[in-house]
Amino acid sequence: MPLRVTFLGTAGAVPTTERNPSGIFVSRAGEQLLFDAGEGTQRQMMRFGTGFSVSHLFVTHLHGDHVLGIPGLLQTMDFNDREEPLAIHAPRGTRRQLKSLVNALDNRPSFPVRISEVGDGDVAYRADEYEVRTFETDHDARSVGYALVEDERKGRFDRERAEELGVPVGPKFSKLHEGEPVELEDGTVVEPDQVVGDPRPGRTIVYTGDTRPTVATIEVADDPDLLIHDATFADDRAERATKTAHSTARGAAEIAARAGAKRLALMHISSRYAGHTADHLEQAREAFDGEVLLPADGDELEIPYPDDD
Ligand SMILES: [Zn+2]
Ligand SMILES: [Zn+2]
Repeated sequence: MPLRVTFLGTAGAVPTTERNPSGIFVSRAGEQLLFDAGEGTQRQMMRFGTGFSVSHLFVTHLHGDHVLGIPGLLQTMDFNDREEPLAIHAPRGTRRQLKSLVNALDNRPSFPVRISEVGDGDVAYRADEYEVRTFETDHDARSVGYALVEDERKGRFDRERAEELGVPVGPKFSKLHEGEPVELEDGTVVEPDQVVGDPRPGRTIVYTGDTRPTVATIEVADDPDLLIHDATFADDRAERATKTAHSTARGAAEIAARAGAKRLALMHISSRYAGHTADHLEQAREAFDGEVLLPADGDELEIPYPDDD
C-alpha cells in the first residue's frame, strides 16, 4: 500500500524563486490529502503532477503562507466541475476567518466545502485504515499540527506452518489470517496464533506546521517514520526562532531524536537562507542520528513500512 509525500512548498513566510510557501501533499491508496495550502499551491500541484482530487485539507494555522492558496485552488476545482465535497480542518476558533477566505470571491465554489474546527488531541479524520490526529503546537497564532497514523496491520501468515498442521489451502487460510480458529477434517482445531505472527505496525507521518519545539510533537505518535518539522532558521538566528515562534534545524532535530523518528524533513526554510542550507543540514545531523532531509519543492518521498527496511 504506497504512502507517498510530495513537498509542494517548503519556503518560510516569504517565498523565493526556488521555494513556494507551505504545502504537503500525501497520497495513500488512491486517497489524496493536503496539509496547508500557501499561495501558488495549485500551480505546484500541476507542476508536480499530483492531480486535484484532494478530499481533505488540513490547515495548521491562518498565517498567509499556509492558507492564501485556498481561494485559487477552490476556483480551479470549480472550473474542473468538481462535485465531491472538500473537508477543511482548521484550528479551533478560526472557522469564521476561514469561511470568509473561502467566500471572499464572487464565484463561490458550487461543490460543498465543509469546514470543521479541531483541537489538541482530536481525531480530525478517521479513515478505514488510518487516522489523522491533531496536536498542540506553539506558534503566535491559533495553531495545531497533524499526525497521520496508520492502524496496525495483521501479522504475517505462515503458509508453510499452516500446511504442516494440515490446513488445506483455501478459505481456511484467510479465516485463520482474519483471526478465527478452524477445524480440520479429523477434528483438530488450529488456532490463529499458531500460524499468524504478531500484528505489525503501520506507518506514521507527523507534520508540525510552524512551531517552537514542543513536547506534544513527541507525544502524538510513537517512532514516526517521517517527521516534517519547522526549521525556519539555523543556529545563527536561534534567538530569532524563539522570538518568532519558530524552530531552528537543530531544535527540530532534537525533537526528532526524542520522538524516535526515522526520518526528519526540514521545512519552512527562511528566505534569508536562499541557496545556503548547508548549516541547516549539518546542525540537524549533529542532534539526530536518523535520516535528515531538506526537501526541495517537488521532492517525493515514498514511506516504507517499518518492517520493510
Ligand atoms: Zn509559516
Ligand atoms: Zn506562521
